[in-house]
Amino acid sequence: MNATKLECATFRTRLLAWYDEHARDLPWRKDHDPYRVWISEIMLQQTRVAAVIEHYHEFLRRFPTVQKLAVVREASVLAAWSGLGYYRRARMVHKAAKVIARELDGKFPASADGLRELPGIGRYTAAAIASIAFDEPVAVVDGNVKRVLERILGERLAREQLWVTAEKLLDRARPGDFNQAMMELGATVCTPRSPACLTCPVIELCRTRGDIAAESKAPPQHKREIHYALDCRDDRVSLVQRPSDASLMPGMWELPETPRPENGAVPAFTVRHSITTTDYRVNVWHVRSSGSHRAIGLQQIPKLAMTGLARKILSRAGILSGPASRPQSGG
Ligand code: SF4
Repeated sequence: MNATKLECATFRTRLLAWYDEHARDLPWRKDHDPYRVWISEIMLQQTRVAAVIEHYHEFLRRFPTVQKLAVVREASVLAAWSGLGYYRRARMVHKAAKVIARELDGKFPASADGLRELPGIGRYTAAAIASIAFDEPVAVVDGNVKRVLERILGERLAREQLWVTAEKLLDRARPGDFNQAMMELGATVCTPRSPACLTCPVIELCRTRGDIAAESKAPPQHKREIHYALDCRDDRVSLVQRPSDASLMPGMWELPETPRPENGAVPAFTVRHSITTTDYRVNVWHVRSSGSHRAIGLQQIPKLAMTGLARKILSRAGILSGPASRPQSGG
């Protein structure tokens, strides 16, 4: 990078002073336990902070230690993950917990290199856990860090350049705080569309002050309408289970799809749901479900691993309470 040593030092001092004062009070920042840091980091991938907070508390209430997580069935882990989407993450978390509990005597590897050996832990997550939980001086690069670095330097950086630059800027005395401060700056000040440069702690060191060509446009969103049957009788709801070899959300439970009634009837209610590049308008009908389904008792339902959309519909219908009623991506 082009910054002089002095600029790097000034950058660190200002960023950390700002972080000390302005860091959001998030539950996973309260201690540096590697299990908690790990769970929060995995949940935060592709999911909004507000949605993660509620699931994080519930997940740790159910599985307070890596040993407890390692001995439960995968279905329980998926059920606790319901509403967060991207269920492969939950499966990998469960797999890694088994390795840690059975092969590593319940202890997390204390370095990024060691952590990367575990299922589902890539370069970013390994560096985040190692720096936050074990103070290892390794930098992280995620979407927020990338944006901050490119705006500060005023140039686009290739993938490896980003990691090298982040490593050079890293505060080696407080690596975990520095990494979190970079991500916090990107999430709350140096935001994608309208960076709040006037409140930015490093504005004097920034080459662009927000004026950098926009990233290539996001892919266009498609629109689709779908119809589900909400067949609730005798304290039971009809649900279907996705095939175990489905590419999306295998084994998860959802409401049965139904053809749109043709007599001009209006649905019981409609919800919106987005999955990657498709925005769904989901019409829910009080009709008998046809095809193969299971009538599941209302008490069983909160324990099932359900798609985020099914949870959203059942929450809206008053059948399910809990945090999953907000829009999510990925299931
Ligand atoms: Fe981002 Fe603006 Fe700060 Fe530069 S000055 S890092 S563009 S918020």
